[in-house]
Amino acid sequence: MKKTIVIGAGGAGIASALLASARKEDVTLLEAHENVGGCASWFHRKDFCFDVGATTVSGVTNQGPLGKLFKLLDSKPRLFHQDPGIVFHLSNGKKVSYRCDFEKWMQELEGAFPHLNHRPFWLKVYKINSKAWDLLSNLSSFPFQNILEALDVFKSPELFPLYPYLIVNTEMMLKFYGLYDKDYLELLNGILLISAQAHAEHVPFLVGAMALAYPQETYAPQGGMKGFMMFFEHECEKHHIKLIKNAPVHKIDKSVVSYHDEKLAADKIILNVPYWNIPDLFSDSEQQTIKKELIKTKHAWGAFTLYLGVKGHFQEIYQQIHLNHEDVANYFVSFSLPHDRDRAPEGWQAVTISTHVEVTQWIGLSPEAYKEKKKHFIEIILTDFKNRFGISETKYITAGTPKTFERYTFRKSGYVGGLPFLYGMNPLSLEGHTTHLQNIYRVGDTTFPGQGLVGVVAGAFALDEQIRKST
Ligand SMILES: Cc1cc2nc3c(=O)[nH]c(=O)nc-3n(C[C@H](O)[C@H](O)[C@H](O)COP(=O)(O)OP(=O)(O)OC[C@H]3O[C@@H](n4cnc5c(N)ncnc54)[C@H](O)[C@@H]3O)c2cc1C
Repeated sequence: MKKTIVIGAGGAGIASALLASARKEDVTLLEAHENVGGCASWFHRKDFCFDVGATTVSGVTNQGPLGKLFKLLDSKPRLFHQDPGIVFHLSNGKKVSYRCDFEKWMQELEGAFPHLNHRPFWLKVYKINSKAWDLLSNLSSFPFQNILEALDVFKSPELFPLYPYLIVNTEMMLKFYGLYDKDYLELLNGILLISAQAHAEHVPFLVGAMALAYPQETYAPQGGMKGFMMFFEHECEKHHIKLIKNAPVHKIDKSVVSYHDEKLAADKIILNVPYWNIPDLFSDSEQQTIKKELIKTKHAWGAFTLYLGVKGHFQEIYQQIHLNHEDVANYFVSFSLPHDRDRAPEGWQAVTISTHVEVTQWIGLSPEAYKEKKKHFIEIILTDFKNRFGISETKYITAGTPKTFERYTFRKSGYVGGLPFLYGMNPLSLEGHTTHLQNIYRVGDTTFPGQGLVGVVAGAFALDEQIRKST
């Protein structure tokens, strides 16, 4: 049996380990933390179980990446479909619920924006979304490593009509459909920020359509991310994958991986560590080559998070609040499922709140300035949250910053959410699965098509196909 080591048990690492096991490889999965999941992990405090970052799950139907994984495993975790997928509170006071049924979603938009004609644009969104998923599954070797791989694309002429949507951005499409309205743009930018990590002007419509369709299929796992990730941990066990936790890899020397004082050799190494962490894992000479490869300007976000227990029974568990405050443009609230006793005591819900922040504004601060900034963010978000939802009682409030994410998820500087595919980007400059080192591969949200659990699992499938083709 060929030996494979996967470094990092985030969503991408776990999916890659399971796919390597399906290729009949002998798999070891090394995780630095005491829990699996990375940005989709959890922690316990008092009577609550909090999701660290990711809270929503999508892509679980048969043709979705997670759906394909469940089919392969012949098992799936308990997931609860949410309708509305997400509720948006705009800064003008309007509330818009993203309904799963197309007609209900149109009615909702017509109610909030009666002067606009939404239907043609959204019909286009869903059409391009479903075709874009076909395109992704046909692009196993994207980003191309050579001309033969690029030519491979032309084997699927039915996908040609999609390519123009790479050269128009989502904002252009809104203008074309007569939907360029300030409040409408605020709503769509809110959706795009959580699913494509950028605003309409920066998102090619091909990606924008997938991102705008995403809340239609929103699921909440029983037990939150703990329930979801423990399902995968048990699957790893069932498939004889050796999962070693508290095993931070500090060095890779050709085919040998070191953590603590241990050394393991493998035929193949799959890195589920972010783009910025990779050079540090290699020796000086390799580091220089990798650093040279990676010196391209990439924008990624950091996250500011709040975790608290609240007394209540909130049924619409995913909500995005738009403040248009200069420091907090919007924040995303995730309540635990009201019935979920794995996460909070009767009558209470565990809440994770997150907002995008610029990492550069959080690093290099004096301890006092850092403390002040954290206090300021807590105050803005918590005051609005308590008033808006009429929260009378809270228990245990703590916050996370890019520093916290760096400490617990090992992501350098606390960059999270992945590398977005932005409008105007050269598709050939995207980070692909292969490296210049033979038998060393990459997956995760900083590798195409990355981003969110759905993207990283799609990436693991693309890598799997690439490996199968090459052996
Ligand atoms: C606040 C926030 C909210 C989000 N909300 C959602 C959401 O609702 N839905 C969604 O789908 N996505 C969401 N995302 C994005 C999603 O969480 C990530 O894109 C996805 O989980 C990334 O998975 P990954 O496997 O690429 O990386 P990670 O989750 O970062 O996993 C990498 C793993 O590698 C381990 N590791 C790192 N270095 C080493 C080393 N040297 N040795 C061993 N192990 C190592 C880490 O501990 C970690 O477990 C959110 C992200 C954040 C930050």
